[in-house]
Amino acid sequence: MELLGLELLALLIAYTLLYYLVKLDKREPIKKKFGLKEFIISFVFYLTISILDKFLPHSLLFTKLEYISVLFVILIWIRNYELYLYKSNYLKNLYILKIAVLVTYSLVIIFVGYELSALLVASTIYFVISLLIVLKSRYTLEGPVRIIVGTTLLFTPLSLAFFVIFSSTILITLGGAFTILITYFYVQQRRLETDFLTTIPNQNALLRYLERKVKKGLKATVIVVDIENFRQINVRYGLEHGDRLLVNFATFLSHNYEKGRVYRVAGNRFAILLPIKSHNEVVKIVNELQNRTAKGWNIEDFLITFHLNIAIIEIPIHAVELEQIIEVINFTIQEIKQRRRQSALIFNEKMRLLQQRHLDVLTAIKHALVDQSRVITLFQPIYGSYNGKICGSEVLMRLKDPILGLISPFEFIPIAEQSGLITSLTKILTSKVATLIKENADSFSKLEYVSINVTSDDLSSVERARSLINLIKESGINPHKIGIEVTESMLIVANKNWPDVWKMFNDEKIRLMLDDFGTGYSNLETLIEIPFDVIKIDRSIVSSKKNNYQLINLLAPMLHKMDKKLVAEGIETLEQVKVVQSLNIEYMQGYFFSQPLSKEDFLALLQSPISINFD
Ligand code: C2E
Ligand code: CA
Ligand code: CA
Repeated sequence: MELLGLELLALLIAYTLLYYLVKLDKREPIKKKFGLKEFIISFVFYLTISILDKFLPHSLLFTKLEYISVLFVILIWIRNYELYLYKSNYLKNLYILKIAVLVTYSLVIIFVGYELSALLVASTIYFVISLLIVLKSRYTLEGPVRIIVGTTLLFTPLSLAFFVIFSSTILITLGGAFTILITYFYVQQRRLETDFLTTIPNQNALLRYLERKVKKGLKATVIVVDIENFRQINVRYGLEHGDRLLVNFATFLSHNYEKGRVYRVAGNRFAILLPIKSHNEVVKIVNELQNRTAKGWNIEDFLITFHLNIAIIEIPIHAVELEQIIEVINFTIQEIKQRRRQSALIFNEKMRLLQQRHLDVLTAIKHALVDQSRVITLFQPIYGSYNGKICGSEVLMRLKDPILGLISPFEFIPIAEQSGLITSLTKILTSKVATLIKENADSFSKLEYVSINVTSDDLSSVERARSLINLIKESGINPHKIGIEVTESMLIVANKNWPDVWKMFNDEKIRLMLDDFGTGYSNLETLIEIPFDVIKIDRSIVSSKKNNYQLINLLAPMLHKMDKKLVAEGIETLEQVKVVQSLNIEYMQGYFFSQPLSKEDFLALLQSPISINFD
């Protein structure tokens, strides 16, 4: 009776797990399923026969079937682990041998009837074969798999012995249910560690692997491959083609580096973990990757090309602990992205110093968020080209740190962006500027506008843009006095919120200014789509003397035709002033007029403004 209860319970468990397994498989297929489904089905078959046999105690057929099903379950049970361990022909031969044993055994049971001895002989053969296989490959097994295979192997002889001695199938039922459960949990864990799109392991898998191996003194070369601007690929070719590209790329990597482990660690980023490689070998791999990528990828009718950023780090030379490894990887990737001309980077001693500086600057930023007097605002005047009078100003930020001294925005802005702290800095700067304008309303009334630099993070959502606008409005100053400088590079990042964001600034009459125009990202479409009031032409264009300032001669009239007001940036010479004036460019800014000034110097300048004499 207890056995029947147990069998019913096991049946329930098996059915439930089978149900979830089938459902999940439809939604999120993974590669290594461990043959769990087949095993559960065979187990259900065995349990059903066993239960029926209890209700029909005199049916010889069911008794015989039960004997056969016991062996059948064991066969499938063990087969799955072997499948996992071996892919060779050798396994196929073994499989044929086992089927032969199963068939002979079934025939003996049906026609001769030495049930027990037949079962014993047949299962002993299975057991010994499987034991040999597992022992041979025990080192290649992952921890949890070793436990599952170990338990299975332990349960098989135990439950058989129990069956022979006590004529009870209780241990077979228990062992089966137990194995199903632990395998199920393991398969679920694998699911969490599998990337569904490419079916290769994901970041969780890499982290868990590193966590386990690093303690044991892992020596490895990690190659992180990052597809640049993947979002652009999605926008240009569509999500479906983007997905196909990722799948093809993942397949290429995992076929090419079978000895290593290939992981998809982020949407557009893969990591290859290899046994330690020499410098030359690393260079060879990087070349291989670049050469293959240069050929492009055929996705249906498209030949998709992209740029790869490759970071290489060595464990344990560059990083010993898991957290360090992650930091070093992230840092190296960020570094490559900033170096436009370099696409592969090996983390080395120089980079370690850079990383240390990076951390120091990050700490300085965090301190400045608390002690806001460390956020310094400088003002660089902007002059009218016709009258030489000061008519506006750009605000430029610095950080003043007691240890590091004055830090340049070229250094701290990218770090603040990467660490998600830029919006806080922008807000601090904005409210400082607004307060200053309010407290010196008279002096500032001489200016048309004061412009603030923002980053894509500051405008990444309608809420963020709104909170920046509110900050300006609530300070009580006229919002039209403020301009927002947006760089061209910001705009290449696709953002579905852009139209709403521009409209919000427009509605409040805050000026929109396009910064660094002509630095290589120029897309004329954005000029039409986004309602910029002012375009700031980059210093490189203004100072490019090629063919008698041909570039600026071409650009200025075009922008004027679009009804834009223009600022010529970075003016250093009188010659440039003359060129700019001849083109009717409205405003000028640069060292020729003034360096960025401290708040005090700027206020003093506003008190007694000097008109620049251009003659
Ligand atoms: P930017 O917005 O293009 O700012 C102009 C930069 O050019 C300033 O450098 C300015 O000092 C410099 N400059 C001005 N006139 C001349 C000139 O005649 N010749 C030369 N060679 N340089 C000139 P700065 O202050 O070091 O700022 C560098 C960059 O840092 C800025 O470029 C901007 O992208 C960023 N930045 C500065 N302040 C902020 C800020 O408050 N927020 C954000 N998000 N970025 C900022
Ligand atoms: Ca600017
Ligand atoms: Ca600029």
